[in-house]
Amino acid sequence: MAHVVVVGGGPAGSAFAITAARCGHDVVLYDDGRRLRSWPGESLPAGGGELAASVFGAAILDGHRRAYGTAAAWGSSELVTHDYMGHWAGNGWILDRARFDEKARALAAESGVTVVSERVTSMPEGADWVVDASGRAGALLSRLGVSRVACDDQVALIGIVADGGGEHVTTVETVREGWWYTTPLADGRRVVALVTDSDLVGADRLATWMASLAETTYIRPLAGDVSTVDVGAYPSGTAYRERMVGDGWLAVGDAAVCFDPLSSQGLVTGIVMAARAATMLGGDLDAWEADYREVLDEHLAVRDEYLRAETRWPDSAFWARRLNPPG
Ligand SMILES: Cc1cc2nc3c(=O)[nH]c(=O)nc-3n(C[C@H](O)[C@H](O)[C@H](O)COP(=O)(O)OP(=O)(O)OC[C@H]3O[C@@H](n4cnc5c(N)ncnc54)[C@H](O)[C@@H]3O)c2cc1C
Repeated sequence: MAHVVVVGGGPAGSAFAITAARCGHDVVLYDDGRRLRSWPGESLPAGGGELAASVFGAAILDGHRRAYGTAAAWGSSELVTHDYMGHWAGNGWILDRARFDEKARALAAESGVTVVSERVTSMPEGADWVVDASGRAGALLSRLGVSRVACDDQVALIGIVADGGGEHVTTVETVREGWWYTTPLADGRRVVALVTDSDLVGADRLATWMASLAETTYIRPLAGDVSTVDVGAYPSGTAYRERMVGDGWLAVGDAAVCFDPLSSQGLVTGIVMAARAATMLGGDLDAWEADYREVLDEHLAVRDEYLRAETRWPDSAFWARRLNPPG
């Protein structure tokens, strides 16, 4: 039995902790609660609910909304609906992230994990394994000197507004300098987000958001009154760590690999790969890391294919970078 300290109680950290505890390890999970102040609208793709439930149990999906498809105007001005009805993997889910993360930590506690509501500010001592599950910032990896490789410098400008109506699906639409998504929330509001490159956001990010929203055909009518919206900026680039495993440490979830939000892949992959790592503690974690890199390579190949399918603005900075990547 190993003594394991997990830093970060998001989906990946909780998945790791709960699985390691079930394997008989002595696990302490620290979370500072800061992520809950972040945006609430995230979704699991078709089949993602079953994968999350395979780690946490079916109760993890209680109180979340089933999603029956997506709609996208990508590569053309036509809105194409992708219906999950009849999809071999079943429906997707629109999550309330605060609820999801709190439930995951509660389930970890029920499984014997010691859950501590505290921010970790230095390298934990006395553990056989320290797991960095602190998200994109990779709090411990930076201390260990493990570098981060950024594939782009994307940012999401996110506003939460009253729902203007429409189907209960995530809608995506490309514009000249990026792409939009909007997802309805359970409380009658909607996440309305522009994904673009950080250097394309002007000094006034609200003005950038508003001007780009006015360019959309399908997103604007779904957003209700935007006159008092507060727009936050969240890093959303694809990135990975040069190493994910070392002597007595490993990284899981966004601390290891950040996927493009276009894929809605971050949560499920983080959960599944973290749970897998927990079953391999003391075993061949290099093989686990190799598998993770394969998942990343596949993600990058599919992402690039999608991005290159949008050819309407070859002279815009955002799309030119994706159509003609450097090197
Ligand atoms: C704009 C945007 C939209 C997205 N949409 C989707 C989507 O629709 N579907 C999807 O699957 N994915 C989506 N993602 C990706 C998804 O948010 C991440 O993949 C996921 O949150 C990663 O989970 P995690 O557990 O690795 O990290 P996080 O969720 O970031 O959790 C890390 C936890 O660690 C805590 N923490 C951090 N530092 C410390 C510390 N020092 N001490 C203690 N605790 C600490 C934080 O408070 C947090 O609770 C999106 C990402 C972005 C940027």
